Amino acid sequence: AAKHAGVRHRRHHSELDVVAGEHALLAAELRAALDTGQFRVVYQPIVSLPDGRIVSVEALVRWDHPTRGFVSPVEFIPVAEQNGLIVELGAWVLRTACAQAVMWRNELGEAAPERMSVNVSARQLAEPGFADVVASVLAWTGLGARHLIVEVTETAVFGGGQTVQTVKDLHELGVKIALDDFGTGHSSLGLLQTIPVDMLKVDKSFVDGITMAGRHAVIATALIQVSNGLGLMAVAEGVETAEQAAELHRLGYRLAQGYHFGRPVAEPDFTGTRVAVV
Ligand code: C2E
Ligand code: CA
Ligand code: CA
Ligand code: CA
Repeated sequence: AAKHAGVRHRRHHSELDVVAGEHALLAAELRAALDTGQFRVVYQPIVSLPDGRIVSVEALVRWDHPTRGFVSPVEFIPVAEQNGLIVELGAWVLRTACAQAVMWRNELGEAAPERMSVNVSARQLAEPGFADVVASVLAWTGLGARHLIVEVTETAVFGGGQTVQTVKDLHELGVKIALDDFGTGHSSLGLLQTIPVDMLKVDKSFVDGITMAGRHAVIATALIQVSNGLGLMAVAEGVETAEQAAELHRLGYRLAQGYHFGRPVAEPDFTGTRVAVV
């Protein structure tokens, strides 16, 4: 027992406890943040490599904290997942993004991006009524289901509960399903046989080394072959340079996303960001 007490004592000031304390603080503040409108949605372009047209945008949530300033979603999404607030926050992101997509369509007509991509977490997918939530957001905003992409990760799909059925229901509605961070999970390829998938988002880690002949280029090539063979759309994520864009295009990628084309912003410019890659 004494030994245990000692262990507990040493742990008391450990980094883990600081992290746990930080988690608890954030968790408490998330509720207030939602109620007082501290969240924003920004949009990052997804471009067509052959002609540089912006074909879709990905909605990404931002938290403008009154004293901490900008808090990264990498920090607060896992906390919101844990305390369940992601369900409400995620529904807010979905409504905001779909409403924005309709505004752009009204404003810009054919120049508006064809699709809006929204990230959905494990907890949201596990909710029994999630497909109904999406259906009612589409009805409320007037956005056609085919204009919406739901981005899910392997972890989220294997989260249990209603998850696989929910993805099937969403697909039935006409919503497109994208597998996010593709290639980084344990059974990315197996997942393609479990759920209906329309799009693969090839993780940045495979794009990073693509201009140097090596493993990354080999894997990126294999992934585009799988995608093309199955008739799916593939998006290369995290493209930061013109060289990477050109190499991806050469390998057969038609869609890409990354700082090279545009960072996530509140109001992307749909007229001035054409990038000719060829
Ligand atoms: P993700 O879905 O994989 O989103 C891509 C992330 O990579 C975004 O980070 C984006 O800003 C960043 N990124 C895009 N292009 C580049 C690039 O060229 N270089 C680099 N270094 N980064 C790039 P962000 O916005 O910080 O979001 C991080 C993660 O937080 C997202 O990863 C997603 O998992 C989660 N997330 C963000 N918004 C939402 C949301 O509304 N709902 C849920 N459930 N998760 C979200
Ligand atoms: Ca994503
Ligand atoms: Ca991703
Ligand atoms: Ca990611």
